Amino acid sequence: MTGPTAPPTAASAALFERARAVTPGGVNSPVRAFNAVGGTPRFIRSAAGAWLTDVDGNEYVDLICSWGPMLLGHAHPEVQAAVAAAVARGTSYGTPTEPEVELAEEIVARAPVEKVRFVSSGTEATMSAIRLARGFTGRDVVVKFAGCYHGHVDSLLASAGSGLATFALPGTPGVPESSTALTMVLPYNDRAAVEKAFAEHGDRIACLITEAAPGNMGVVPPEAGFNRFLAETCAQHGALFISDEVMTGFRASKQGQWGLDGAVEGWTPDLVTFGKVMGGGFPAAAFGGRADVMSRLAPDGPVYQAGTLSGNPIATTAGLTTLRLATDDVYAHIGAAADTIKTAAADELSKAGVAHVVQATGTMFSIFFMDTAVRDFDDASRTDSRAYAAFFHAMLDHGVYLPPSAYEAWFLSAAHDDRAVQTVLDALPVAARAAAAAQETPGATS
Ligand SMILES: *Cc1c(COP(=O)(O)O)cnc(C)c1O
Repeated sequence: MTGPTAPPTAASAALFERARAVTPGGVNSPVRAFNAVGGTPRFIRSAAGAWLTDVDGNEYVDLICSWGPMLLGHAHPEVQAAVAAAVARGTSYGTPTEPEVELAEEIVARAPVEKVRFVSSGTEATMSAIRLARGFTGRDVVVKFAGCYHGHVDSLLASAGSGLATFALPGTPGVPESSTALTMVLPYNDRAAVEKAFAEHGDRIACLITEAAPGNMGVVPPEAGFNRFLAETCAQHGALFISDEVMTGFRASKQGQWGLDGAVEGWTPDLVTFGKVMGGGFPAAAFGGRADVMSRLAPDGPVYQAGTLSGNPIATTAGLTTLRLATDDVYAHIGAAADTIKTAAADELSKAGVAHVVQATGTMFSIFFMDTAVRDFDDASRTDSRAYAAFFHAMLDHGVYLPPSAYEAWFLSAAHDDRAVQTVLDALPVAARAAAAAQETPGATS
C-alpha cells in the first residue's frame, strides 16, 4: 500500500519520554497515552479552527475537539477576546461575579433546569448531584448503567459483578467495596432490568443516573422512549432521575440530548449535569434541576457542596461566550459535516469489506467495527479494536486526529469547513483498507 511516509514524531517522542519520568504514563488522563491504539501520543503545540499542530509541526484535522468542548473550533476569535478581557480584570476573586449569573441564566434558558450550581469538572457535577439526590430523598442506593461513564466518582466506578450479585463491585483498585455496595449496575436500554431493580429495591433508591445518550462506550443512543421510561419509573418510586449531559449538553443539539427526546415527548429530568461545551475549553461544569431539589443545597439547605474555583470568572466567560455563539446555524453546520463524514466512512469501509455500524445521536457519532447494532456495553465490547487501531493510525498518518480508542465519540465543530472535511474524506480509503487488513475475522461483513 502506498502513501506518504509517516509524519515525523521525534519531538513528541522526546516529550513523552520526559513526561513519563515525572507523570504516571506520561499523561494526565489515561486515554491520551495511546495505550489502546499503540504508538507515540502526539503532543499538541497549538490549535486553530478545525486544526491541531503538534510539536513536530504536523497538522491534523481534529475529530475529538478536546473530547467535546470545542464546539466552535479552536481559538475562536470572539471567545479569545472575551477571555483576554476577563483575564485583564483578574483571574479569580473567591466572590460572586456577573459572568456566573449570566451563564446560569443562559443554561436555565436552554436546558430543563430551574437552578444551577457551578463546579470545575464533570466528575464534581455528578458526584454532587448524587449527594444532593441522597440528601433530598433520604435514601442511599444509586442505579447506573454499565458502559455509562460519569467521571471518576468512587461509587460510580462500579461493575455489575456476577449475575447473582445485586449490588456492584469496585471497578478499580482504590475504591472500597463499601463505596460501591450501594450502587446497582444495569445493562443499558434494558427496561426489564430497570423494572426488576425498582420492584425489588424501589424504596431504597435515591436516584438513577444515566448518560442522556451514552457516548463513553462509543455512541449508543437510547432506544425510543427509554429516557422517558426512566424518568417515569423514578417518579413512580420517589427516586430522582439524573440525566448526565456532560458530553451531550449543548453538543448533541442546542438543548443537548433532552432537545431530542424530553423536549419533544414532554418530560423533564429532576437533575441534569453539564460540563465540556459549557466551559468553552476551560474547567467549568454544573449540575442543576428542580428548584425544590436544588434549594436543599448549602447555603439554602443542609446538603454541603463547595469549590474554591467554582464559577471562576475566566471559565464562565469562556462558557457564556461559547453558548451565546452556539446558534441553530452552528448545530446545522456540524450536523451536515457529520453526515458527510459518516456516509463517506461507511462507503469506504463497505468497499474495503470491513464490518462496521455507524451510530449517532444528534451531531455526535461513532463507528463500531462489527456488523450488528450496539444497544449496550456487552455489544460495544465486541467491536474489533485491532481493526480500529489500524484505521486510527492510517487516519493519523494522513492528517486526521481521531479518538485514540474504539470506544469514543467523534466530535466536529463549527470550524470544520470544506477543506477540513475533504482532508477526512481523502484519508478514509487508505484507512479503510488498513482496517480490512487488520480485521480479527476478515470478510465478516455479510
Ligand atoms: C466527560 C464526562 C464526565 C466527566 O467529566 P470530567 O470533566 O472529565 O470530570 C462525566 N459524564 C460524562 C457523560 C462525560 O462524558
